[in-house]
Amino acid sequence: SREVHLIARPVGEPKPADFELVESTLPDPEEGQILVRNDWLSVDPYMRGRMNDVKSYVPPFRLGAPMDGGAVGTVIASNAPDVPVGATVLHSRGWRDHALLDASHARVVDTAIAPARTYLSALGMVGLTAYAGLKEVAPVKEGDVVFVSGAAGAVGIVAGRVARHLGASKVIGSAGGPEKTRRLVEEFGYDAAIDYRAGDLGGQLAAVAPDGIDVYFDNVGGDHLQAALDALNTFGRVALCGAISQYNATEPVPGPINLFLAVGKRLTLRGFIVGDHQHLAGEYARLAASWLREGTLRSQETVVDGLDNAVDAFLGLLRGANTGKMLIRLTPA
Ligand code: NDP
Repeated sequence: SREVHLIARPVGEPKPADFELVESTLPDPEEGQILVRNDWLSVDPYMRGRMNDVKSYVPPFRLGAPMDGGAVGTVIASNAPDVPVGATVLHSRGWRDHALLDASHARVVDTAIAPARTYLSALGMVGLTAYAGLKEVAPVKEGDVVFVSGAAGAVGIVAGRVARHLGASKVIGSAGGPEKTRRLVEEFGYDAAIDYRAGDLGGQLAAVAPDGIDVYFDNVGGDHLQAALDALNTFGRVALCGAISQYNATEPVPGPINLFLAVGKRLTLRGFIVGDHQHLAGEYARLAASWLREGTLRSQETVVDGLDNAVDAFLGLLRGANTGKMLIRLTPA
């Protein structure tokens, strides 16, 4: 088997030399275990946080050991009656081409509902993140104007669709560059889009939301959060999902200078981690499957081939090389 190790803790932007591709040999599955050939790997922004040696909601990656992360694969040897050879499973031993694990740590997925990779994108953790954020954390009400940052990313594309399903009257997204903002409106169902790289975020937001916004789904933090606080209407809600603009920061980043607006406007700002919203997983899986069938949700992915390119895909993700979910394909179709 081949696996990607973290060998140095990145300072600022990670670089290829912080990682190493290592060969290893896997034993046969013991009782209760399965051997999986990974077909798809997920790379995600939260992995950047796990590369730092700090206490957080997930433990840091260990140096000189394989990293883990979401993966979907095919069972090629099994010593567990419930998970037979040939089953497609979702599990968390990513960043490697083969994984040996307890069958109880894998979930068999139904590829009749959607292709296997969809369980790492719209039907997976990122889809549930979008749903939990707008259903429970910053609930969207009928007629709301909703603003989503990081809108052309994995969570953001689903969030736009979810906002619409929950009754938003207008859905606004921001992303980097004219191509992504064009696609937000033409392909991903957004009503209006802002190119944050073009500057004057506040002015651009005010122009597309002249009556303000009611809900902000924050993937980016920083200037985006500041612009949203200005635009939010009374009793507005903010789902603090991520702050990708500061993941490579080497010093703590100050918060928005206009946070006091939250008082006068009676805003609710709430941070969340998708793992605490597992009670919505069944409901979301049913809804998402039907939205995918009727075409009101589409799974959007950027695919990079080969474990040799997994690190580059991760580095690219942090710089916006992806539209939709960034995935590594290990097994050619
Ligand atoms: P994305 O698919 O959105 O990929 C990251 C994107 O971030 C890039 O494509 C890039 O898009 C954008 N980006 C990078 N740097 C900046 C910057 N300085 N300013 C603005 N945008 C930037 O990743 P995910 O959808 O997986 O994750 C989106 C967010 O959600 C992240 O913050 C992540 O940490 C968070 N998250 C939180 C979860 C939770 O439980 N709270 C669960 C899952 C994700 P562009 O080209 O537009 O710049």
